[in-house]
Amino acid sequence: MTAQSAQISKLGAAARRFVSQTRNLLINGEHVPARSGKTFETFDPADNGVICAVAEAGAEDIDLAVQAARRQFDGGEWSKLRPSERERLILRLADLVEQHADELAELEAIDNGKLLPYARFGDVSMAVDFLRYMAGWATKIEGRTIHPSVPYVQEARFWSYTLKEPVGVVGQIIPWNFPLVMAAWKIGPALATGCTVVLKPAEQTPLTALRLGELCLEAGIPAGVVNVVPGFGHTAGVAMVEHPGIDKIAFTGSTETGKAIGRAAVDTMKRVSLELGGKSPMIVMADADMDVAIPGAAMGIFFNQGQVCTAGSRLYVQRSVFDKVTEGIAEIAKSFKLGPAFAEDAQLGPLVSKAQQERVGSYIQSGLDQGAVALSGGRVVEGQGCFVEPTVFVNANRDMKIVQEEIFGPVIVAQPIDDLDDIAAVANDTIYGLGASIWTTNLNTAHGLAAKIRAGSVWINSHNIVDPAVPFGGFKQSGYGREMGQEVIDLYTETKAVTMMV
Ligand code: NAP
Ligand code: MG
Repeated sequence: MTAQSAQISKLGAAARRFVSQTRNLLINGEHVPARSGKTFETFDPADNGVICAVAEAGAEDIDLAVQAARRQFDGGEWSKLRPSERERLILRLADLVEQHADELAELEAIDNGKLLPYARFGDVSMAVDFLRYMAGWATKIEGRTIHPSVPYVQEARFWSYTLKEPVGVVGQIIPWNFPLVMAAWKIGPALATGCTVVLKPAEQTPLTALRLGELCLEAGIPAGVVNVVPGFGHTAGVAMVEHPGIDKIAFTGSTETGKAIGRAAVDTMKRVSLELGGKSPMIVMADADMDVAIPGAAMGIFFNQGQVCTAGSRLYVQRSVFDKVTEGIAEIAKSFKLGPAFAEDAQLGPLVSKAQQERVGSYIQSGLDQGAVALSGGRVVEGQGCFVEPTVFVNANRDMKIVQEEIFGPVIVAQPIDDLDDIAAVANDTIYGLGASIWTTNLNTAHGLAAKIRAGSVWINSHNIVDPAVPFGGFKQSGYGREMGQEVIDLYTETKAVTMMV
């Protein structure tokens, strides 16, 4: 039998109560076991101890959740609410998330492994801000009026207008790296536009999404509008993608899974939005302010243990400052104290799971095997917990796996830049196009490169700056569509053209 997580004793009363029983599915406003009776355990990656059991949704449960969501969408109470009423409900949800911030942060920290202060002041705060931002959009969704010419109808005249209608029941499949934030990113725009939701959190981190689902009910969002169905991708996830009652799949996760979802969704012609992987470059010029660039680039890769889709995992540094920058980042990496989420002196937590630790470990080994040199780290930490030493690789080249593939861990690969005309081409030498950063004090370099880089987010003298008002998403194999900002409204609406003879 697997031991219990030692950190359960560190949870506050509310979070401890939440994990003291098997967590059921949330379908049609009720806590229900899976039809199959199956459960799975969720783990604390700090010591691989069990946190609690969670009901495991299968195809039958997905079907019940879709039916509940359909009833609300197709003429239910939800479909009749005015935009301002939806706005108020989302604002109430944001207030509840804020009121339960400590509980949610504790659940996030123990389930994902991220350090408690990051969960509290990063993830939970961001989820609150995002929900509040999206609430405002509910009353600001507008179409256009058009005066068509219609040349083949000589005498008649026409007017057209467009309606932005909610796309319908949305199946949302999210990853484990920012579980609550991802749930808020997905639920927020769905509610603002009037859609209904079947949400599948990642099997590694189901807890905060389940709690958020309860808070939706407490906020007064009608039962069945937001259903939360933890389970596995190959069963529950596949059942969602195939279900004819789901109108759209919104997915965040790996490019490989995103491609499988895109292919499968074609059969029912579901709308699909995909926020996928990356291999984002950070470009440090010799004229950069090194007091900003070195710690900034270190955070660009090591934040959230490198488990960030826009993690700055490729580092390109102008030759004259290459040693200074790479050694500076390696010094920071060596200084980090690794520890569990609730340890006050910990500066870097474990990865999310044993599987992820092994995956990152095998990438590190492949780097060493192919001749890269680790200035820091270079090993997984043996023993309890899913820890990996933050690793800075040099002596790398473009053909190495560690330069081409998404590692999703605290591993950065640095290469020097000699030819300034070549920088954009080198940065773009990847199948991905999610993020990039440029560190320089020269305005021409900054904006000139920003224009040439093929990525959805380009940051200047910063990295991983994400805000609800700013669109976010990928070029190339990093996905389809833009979340956040006004662009997200298009992801959750269909445009209808109405034309009238006048
Ligand atoms: P993943 O397979 O993309 O999982 C993301 C979500 O998709 C999870 O909820 C997963 O469920 C579900 N899923 C998996 N297969 C599915 C399918 N065929 N149909 C429908 N849903 C499906 O990612 P992972 O396996 O957890 O991690 C593997 C690698 O993906 C990581 O090492 C990292 O490189 C990358 N990744 C990227 C991001 C990102 O934000 N870009 C996020 C997570 C992972 P289960 O959890 O039950 O499998
Ligand atoms: Mg877990």
